[in-house]
Amino acid sequence: MRLTRASRYVHSVELIDVDDLKARGIRCVLVDRDNTLVPRDTKVAPPRVRAWLDRLREEHIAVCMVSNNFHTDQVCASAEDLGCAVVHHAMKPAPVAIQVALVTMGVPKEQAVLVGDQLFTDVLAGNLAGIHTILVRPQSRTDLWYTQIFRIVEQGFLGGVQFEGE
Ligand SMILES: [Mg+2]
Repeated sequence: MRLTRASRYVHSVELIDVDDLKARGIRCVLVDRDNTLVPRDTKVAPPRVRAWLDRLREEHIAVCMVSNNFHTDQVCASAEDLGCAVVHHAMKPAPVAIQVALVTMGVPKEQAVLVGDQLFTDVLAGNLAGIHTILVRPQSRTDLWYTQIFRIVEQGFLGGVQFEGE
């Protein structure tokens, strides 16, 4: 397994079919915050994301936000707003926060998936923790300066990968 290869590539979170997750035995979705659920420019999760989270809840699939963002107040406010559990200061790509989230949610790694918009934090952390990963496109072009550098390198790693929904 290549550590920088996601299990799936999907354009955006709401295109991840909840019935399909259920059919695959997924009971918990670990999900990145910035530019995955909440765009970095508007800082408000769009209705389509909220609807997707509602669908997960309808199917009794737990959601835990796992965020590297150091602004704990903002991360916790988002998690509360979206009705998710939260692990902040995650320090992805270190896999520790993923393992903490799995223990907190009481779900074995085989029944969880990590969704995020960055190869070198989200996907790498998920692979190091041994769970399925789904890479989505960032919701906005606004990124931290160092993330913008990673984006350039990321493009090289992604090559011609086809994202579902594009
Ligand atoms: Mg992100």
